[in-house]
Amino acid sequence: MTGRADWDVIVAGAGPGGSSIAALLAMAGKRVLVVERETFPRFHIGESLLPASGLIQSLLGIEPRPEDFFFKRGAQFIDESTGRVQTFDFAEALPGPQRFAWHVERARFDKLLRDRAEELGAVLRHRFEVEDVEADASGVRVRIRALDASAGGSDGASGSAPEAGSVHAPRGEPIVEHGRYFIDATGQDRFLARKHGSGRSLERFGRAAVFTHFAGLSPAAQAEIAPHNDIRVVIIPDGWLWGIPLTGNRLSVGMVKRTPGLRRSDLDAYLETSPLFGRLLSGAERLQTRMVSNFSFENEQASGLRYACVGDSACFIDPVFSSGVSLAILRAVEVSKRLLPALDEQREGDPLLMAAMENETKRAYETFASLVYRFYNTHFIDNMLFGAPEEGRFRAGVISVLAGDVFRDDNPFQDMLLRSRRHAIRTTPAAEAGPPPVATS
Ligand SMILES: Cc1cc2nc3c(=O)[nH]c(=O)nc-3n(C[C@H](O)[C@H](O)[C@H](O)COP(=O)(O)OP(=O)(O)OC[C@H]3O[C@@H](n4cnc5c(N)ncnc54)[C@H](O)[C@@H]3O)c2cc1C
Repeated sequence: MTGRADWDVIVAGAGPGGSSIAALLAMAGKRVLVVERETFPRFHIGESLLPASGLIQSLLGIEPRPEDFFFKRGAQFIDESTGRVQTFDFAEALPGPQRFAWHVERARFDKLLRDRAEELGAVLRHRFEVEDVEADASGVRVRIRALDASAGGSDGASGSAPEAGSVHAPRGEPIVEHGRYFIDATGQDRFLARKHGSGRSLERFGRAAVFTHFAGLSPAAQAEIAPHNDIRVVIIPDGWLWGIPLTGNRLSVGMVKRTPGLRRSDLDAYLETSPLFGRLLSGAERLQTRMVSNFSFENEQASGLRYACVGDSACFIDPVFSSGVSLAILRAVEVSKRLLPALDEQREGDPLLMAAMENETKRAYETFASLVYRFYNTHFIDNMLFGAPEEGRFRAGVISVLAGDVFRDDNPFQDMLLRSRRHAIRTTPAAEAGPPPVATS
């Protein structure tokens, strides 16, 4: 490989992880290429954000416009069979960062982050797929391929050409891009984990989800949801459901089960008998139903010679506590903090560049893994959710973890979760982990 590098960093994937790091690097003047398989806007699940995700808005100067961001006070856990309800208000967290969050339609949110990355100077290639990556002491070579004739800039067809390296490809013709560093932000596609065989399924968490949107909520439903707009997490014997209020009078509704064999009809059956959803969905129009499975996963080589994984391609721990987007963003920030000075000082070829960052982000992943493990496999729901103390530092600590404020070291609840972490994660080697994640619509 030659030392030619047309880009400082090549990013695969323009989801929240990829666009966040692309924007942060471009803001610091780096030459960044983002390669994204889809055109934007595109549907994506993962609509309930944690307060911790607000960091990226402040770093990138993004104003939360009401048409994109729907205020979220906190989370309500509900057991309709017993009538138990527990509400966690982010304002009651330990003193720290932002104490509220947002619900977002991901098509809009992801495009907004993508647009910001582009405004800051990143070059976007939509409808291109990253096919292969090679790294050595002198740089990375990334083979990309146009998926169809519309491949190009921001939304496909057009887009500014970079100064060097890329030209619009005729359909199907591979192009090799040369860079100094590669970021895998391919989400559940887990590009590098597949290439390296380093993926591990996380066991004993949720196995599959079925979900849909409802449009045209009634005034009564809107009145019940407002003014706090909490996410509703409804506990059922072998899983849970979410109700996430969105802008435009919509409700996102989904069901996750930890036992095998989830069917679309399981969601329908619960919605038909649920008093809560009966009220919220009365008269609303149901939109497309989708399913996804095998989503909880850890990449055991999430960084190495001239690469780092960001977002789900590094790790994803079950959707029950809405941590996915926030952890993707927090890891993007942490990776950028190490990568920027390394690029300036020509140290980006150090295979251990991200070692300290891995230790720090591991603490965040293990906190959520321990929490989720307890949720599905212990008496946590009775003892800690519905039985949480009504006030005091321990309750505030529970709320701080639920808020994604997991990089601190003064939280008694987080300490408790991490003390028993060796029991928390059980993984299956990739070879035995079964089929890759499945999404159907
Ligand atoms: C059922 C369910 C519910 C969820 N609910 C929530 C929630 O309420 N809140 C929350 O925070 N999170 C939630 N999540 C998690 C959330 O969806 C993810 O954590 C988040 O999208 C991760 O962002 P990302 O940038 O890593 O990946 P993504 O957002 O998936 O982006 C990856 C991008 O990479 C592109 N790509 C893939 N392969 C290639 C390739 N080879 N070349 C080029 N481009 C490629 C894809 O097209 C995609 O646009 C949920 C997940 C599931 C499964």
